[in-house]
Amino acid sequence: MNIKDLVQSQKNFFSKQHTKDISFRKNALKKLQKEIIRREDDIINALHNDFKKSEYEAVMTETSIVLTELKMAIKNIHSWSKPKRVLPSLLNFPSSAKIYKEPYGTVLIIAPWNYPYQLAFAPLLGAIAAGNTVVLKPSELTPHVSKLTKEIIEAVFDKDHIAVVEGGVDTAQELLAQRWDYIFFTGSVPVGKIVAKAAAEHITPVTLELGGKSPCIVDETANIKLAAKRLVWGKLINGGQTCIAPDYLLIHKSVKDKFTTHFKEELIKAYGENPQISDDYPRIVNTKNFDRLALMLTNENFIVGGQTDRDDRYIAPTIINEPSLDSEVMKGEIFGPIFPLISYDNEEDIANILARYDKPLALYVFTTRASFAKKIIGTYSFGGGTINDTTVHFANHRLPFGGVGESGIGGYHGKQTFETFSHNKGVVTRGNWLDIPTRYAPYKGKLKQLKSLMKFG
Ligand code: NAD
Repeated sequence: MNIKDLVQSQKNFFSKQHTKDISFRKNALKKLQKEIIRREDDIINALHNDFKKSEYEAVMTETSIVLTELKMAIKNIHSWSKPKRVLPSLLNFPSSAKIYKEPYGTVLIIAPWNYPYQLAFAPLLGAIAAGNTVVLKPSELTPHVSKLTKEIIEAVFDKDHIAVVEGGVDTAQELLAQRWDYIFFTGSVPVGKIVAKAAAEHITPVTLELGGKSPCIVDETANIKLAAKRLVWGKLINGGQTCIAPDYLLIHKSVKDKFTTHFKEELIKAYGENPQISDDYPRIVNTKNFDRLALMLTNENFIVGGQTDRDDRYIAPTIINEPSLDSEVMKGEIFGPIFPLISYDNEEDIANILARYDKPLALYVFTTRASFAKKIIGTYSFGGGTINDTTVHFANHRLPFGGVGESGIGGYHGKQTFETFSHNKGVVTRGNWLDIPTRYAPYKGKLKQLKSLMKFG
């Protein structure tokens, strides 16, 4: 079936109203749950085949997250989808008022390659829970996961309810040329802009989960040893190919040497003297990204790392010592295991550096001064963040996850995912037993009464 016909068949299916039934949705989620549990080993193997992701990281950052979100959606779908009664307005007296959770209709989800399973299935399950039909396009850069995603979905769903379309840029563009009721995109800022333009054509609502240059600030009061340990983890998990990875490090100059000493120790503890032979250290997803990253290493000084192996798509965990702010590594999002370290003297230095970039997806601050953390959180705009750790705000499904400014529009996780894929339809039911005459023409002599009524809202 071609893309145009597929979208039409999903629209036809949606119009039959089956997905409005909560039991239908719950059943769909349960079937999906069963299939992904059955295929868990295949998912882990596919992730390993695509970029040598370890089983441990696959479970921690992909399969377990999806299962938790699925379980939560199955458990809460009835309460999430119930119409919510709100207080009526006096102006409408007598009346009652409700917010109905309405599925948008036919949804397009475009996923990236870096957490190729989780970032496809987490939005997908929310879209299903909210009663939409979905076309999902996985990333072509992780072909094993893409193929498996299609197999899993085809084993569970009819195409007119949920379908997977595999392919690259051309396929994505053909998909974007269709008329959707909602588009959920995860990927880079430049492609996010292409998606936003395509969506604007039909005023299609979008969620854009994008990237950016997420700073990490370590002040002179921080627990440096622990900061180093947590940064080795947060920077290098998934080989640094994480949208909320700390991108660059701003460290108070008085603790720089202490930090780098601990960072080296923690690095060896985690990945050994040669991370290339560690089973836990992933590879760069493809040669294009390898070359992009390798370019950032030219003419720089390393505190640690700097080794590369193009045939193996290996880049060693690397700290670049005080790169120029105009250097390649400080231009855009790094998205790899390279950590530029810039020392600062005072808060003005921090402000000047942060001002060079758009609002990031994440920000991290390591400090034991609550006032400093509060000031940083209050002063700078960013999608979300963590104090005294990195990336872990992602793990709390009670927190909405998303960007601001160029790092994205909208948020999801937990109940918020269901909300993302639901339109809030506000409906008032008027009583017929009374009809206050104030609003009706002729208006002469009624203004005072209107003003006093309006005060109550
Ligand atoms: P990408 O933007 O290159 O690709 C994402 C998806 O868009 C893929 O499915 C791809 O096929 C499609 N695509 C690529 N070029 C396109 C085009 N010209 N027109 C239409 N579609 C196109 O991103 P990526 O390399 O897969 O992922 C890395 C980026 O994603 C990073 O910037 C990262 O920060 C971001 N990201 C954000 C989040 C988040 O939750 N905010 C999560 C993961 C990754």
